[in-house]
Amino acid sequence: METIQDVKMNVYKFGNKTADGNTKMKNLLGGKGANLAEMSLLGIPVPAGFTITTEVCTKYNEVGQEETVEMIRADVEEAIKNVESIMGSTFGDQENPLLISVRSGARVSMPGMMDTVLNLGLNDEVVIGLAEKTGNERFAWDSYRRFIQMYGDVVLGMKPESKEDIDPFEEIMEALKHKRDIELDTEFSIQDLKDLVYDFKDAVKKRTGHDFPTNPWDQLWGAVVAVFDSWNGDRAVYYRNMHGYPANWGTAVNVQAMVYGNMGDNSGTGVCFTRDAGTGEDVFNGEYLINAQGEDVVAGTRTPQQITKLGSLRWAELAKVEEEDRFKNYPSLEELMPAIYNELNEYQQKLEDHYKDMQDMEFTMQDGKLWILQTRNGKRTGAAMVKIAIDKLKEGSIDEKEALLRIEPNKLDELLHPVFNPKALKKANVIAQGLPASPGAATGQIVFFADEANKYKNTILTRIETSPEDLEGMNIAKGILTARGGMTSHAAVVARGMGKCCVSGAGALKINYKKRTLVVDGHEYHEGDWISLNGSTGNIIEGKVATIEPELSGEFAEIMELSAKYSKMKVRTNADSPKDAKVARRFGAQGIGLTRTEHMFFEVDRIKAMREMILAETVKGRKEALEQLLPMQREDFEGIFEAMEGLPVTVRLLDPPLHEFVPHQLAHQKELAEEMHISLDAVKAKIVELEEFNPMLGHRGCRLGITYPEITEMQTRAIIEAALNLKEKGIEAKPEIMVPLIGTLAEFVSQEEIIRTTAKKVFEERNDTIEFLVGTMIEIPRAALTANLIAQRAEFFSFGTNDLTQMAFGYSRDDAGKFLPIYIEKGILKVDPFEALDQEGVGQLVELGTERGRSTKPNLKVGICGEHGGEPSSIEFCYNTNLDYVSCSPFRVPIARLSAAQAQIKAS
Ligand code: PEP
Ligand code: MG
Repeated sequence: METIQDVKMNVYKFGNKTADGNTKMKNLLGGKGANLAEMSLLGIPVPAGFTITTEVCTKYNEVGQEETVEMIRADVEEAIKNVESIMGSTFGDQENPLLISVRSGARVSMPGMMDTVLNLGLNDEVVIGLAEKTGNERFAWDSYRRFIQMYGDVVLGMKPESKEDIDPFEEIMEALKHKRDIELDTEFSIQDLKDLVYDFKDAVKKRTGHDFPTNPWDQLWGAVVAVFDSWNGDRAVYYRNMHGYPANWGTAVNVQAMVYGNMGDNSGTGVCFTRDAGTGEDVFNGEYLINAQGEDVVAGTRTPQQITKLGSLRWAELAKVEEEDRFKNYPSLEELMPAIYNELNEYQQKLEDHYKDMQDMEFTMQDGKLWILQTRNGKRTGAAMVKIAIDKLKEGSIDEKEALLRIEPNKLDELLHPVFNPKALKKANVIAQGLPASPGAATGQIVFFADEANKYKNTILTRIETSPEDLEGMNIAKGILTARGGMTSHAAVVARGMGKCCVSGAGALKINYKKRTLVVDGHEYHEGDWISLNGSTGNIIEGKVATIEPELSGEFAEIMELSAKYSKMKVRTNADSPKDAKVARRFGAQGIGLTRTEHMFFEVDRIKAMREMILAETVKGRKEALEQLLPMQREDFEGIFEAMEGLPVTVRLLDPPLHEFVPHQLAHQKELAEEMHISLDAVKAKIVELEEFNPMLGHRGCRLGITYPEITEMQTRAIIEAALNLKEKGIEAKPEIMVPLIGTLAEFVSQEEIIRTTAKKVFEERNDTIEFLVGTMIEIPRAALTANLIAQRAEFFSFGTNDLTQMAFGYSRDDAGKFLPIYIEKGILKVDPFEALDQEGVGQLVELGTERGRSTKPNLKVGICGEHGGEPSSIEFCYNTNLDYVSCSPFRVPIARLSAAQAQIKAS
């Protein structure tokens, strides 16, 4: 027999310790809906409600509003009846009204990226009923005022007209405050609230041409559709693209009975975390406000209080609040309402134990009764992510494999970046202090608007408070500073999710958007001035502060050790200098997968000799120029081999088209002509001769070594001599010489012969030898197709997936920037194939090349050195294709090591 779970429904109910769904149904119910169902099943008090599935959203995007509403109308009406019967009130009723919230909820949490409407179901009659039912007229009208404001914004599009403008409803409120000579919302009289409601409705009519909807059912459908639409809003699309979430996931809609934190001093609302989302420390923490609704805590317009006494004491120290003042004016929930605190504490423990991960919860206290509105795995910084995974492992609640799978590889990046130099910090001029909302060190120039975050190279986005519209700018800025808002404000939550340094709630800052100034203690700072933020202490510092490399010990090291334990695929690095090689080795690189030798030729003292070589008219002239380059190359290789002592180093022969090396400015051309004692015209003529219509497919790669064998000879000599020189010093070098851009076996053979002959010559001269390999890049589709032939001679393959992608798609690497973003926007491609390997197409060439190569040489060593070698989904593909190693830039080595382990764990 089919159970309810077997039949997919459009609407899933929950409440009163029962639920149609559960936590495993995140794809269908969204994260929030699935967790509400689960909490209800766990016996945790959640207000009754229901979830309209993500599949309905997808359907809505296909067929539009009318058909979708008809499809779910009966289910929604029945679900509302269920909520009415659990909550003992009636939707739209004038005496005993049920009010509801309508919220988005995708399968992954996207905080603030989509829309929410609260207090839905109010109109001019219902508000009177609500006032009588609660005996609280002020509360009823305040709820109505908030409802029109939110519904107007979300459903009816009542937004500020420009970035310097304020919200149209805020403007009305500000005007009334001015008239009444009051400062706070709480100072409005009941009559003021009534006036606001009518003024708000007038504003709606003026701007939209329609009356504000009075029928609760019309309101409900309007809100449901607006939530569906918000899935394709700018913010959500940006967030999705940033995280690579596909557009076809859709969002669920959660409709739930309202409970109120603003019904007086026995009510309140808050947000809490089972562990510290910034550091990972195992302390329950969070913030609440008495007599407030959820958005008041997150919006950062009032200073929230701490939930635990410990948190409150820590906060007071940072905010420089005396104990007496703290206890009287900002007591913790633990001190103020111990019974509710104990209940909340019990639920937070229960939920963390149940989900085996740090939870981020929202709650409301209505008239002394606690309701949990939401729980989800909390967003956290990279540092917290690593610490929590290791702590959970040590507590025994998860195993090693699970601990590794808990780490988002790309977030490790946050741990690898510089921190403030403690010595420089001692001398720093701290101008103010805010809350340490998201750790890190940031130095940059002040900007006041999110869409100006790229005005300078390094910026600090400085705002009174941030909103979801600011997401893109927050991502670009080096750090975020806000004057308002607590540890759970929008800025703080989003910054921690991004791993971006953030100081919030720095009350001493006076920000003027119109003048673009920041005043602290009488001192005025302007847009473009430098400041620094210490996200770990909340300090705001004038000017720049020097940084140092971070420590890579503790939990980070443990994650790396575990990664090594669970991955057989190796991780190498792409490095062109001893410095990069050393960095990568510190991060655990197991060799070099690609040294691009051309980068060495661009340095000032070398480019001249290189140009002379290119411009030489005869073989003799070219050889003379190469003679000058030889000692420099040899020295470079010695440095790199030494840094990688004992580990393999793949050195690639010269690859780019020669015209990249010649001067294109007249002044430089003149200089070169003088140095070479030839005429300017001769230089110009040579440059014209080198020009190509399609340089990426032109005279480059092994084609250079074939037309100018002396280049291959010189480079081979430099490599072999460097290795022999180190051998004399007792340092083992393991060179692997790699020929680029091979398309046929014959091309490879021609280069291999030069390499082997040159090496032999050097061995004879030095009367000594070393071991070395000769292999090739596989980056032309023909090479992948004929890999069985190429493997007759090549001792290793390395997939150059940058060129392979270019040639498989026919997208020029240099020109794709013009159309790829549009392709992604239009959904023609899901992701940029130069970032994540196109497994469907280019991936076939990698699989086929590997298989065919190994059909000739079963033990052929195969790796990848295109940019994809540092990208988690591509690394998983490489593991599944049995590659021996991936190679990536030094700072991506830890990410690749973890991804390799995750791939292996997932495959097993
Ligand atoms: C490649 O093509 O993937 C590669 C690593 O070489 P380059 O990017 O230098 O062309
Ligand atoms: Mg290439």
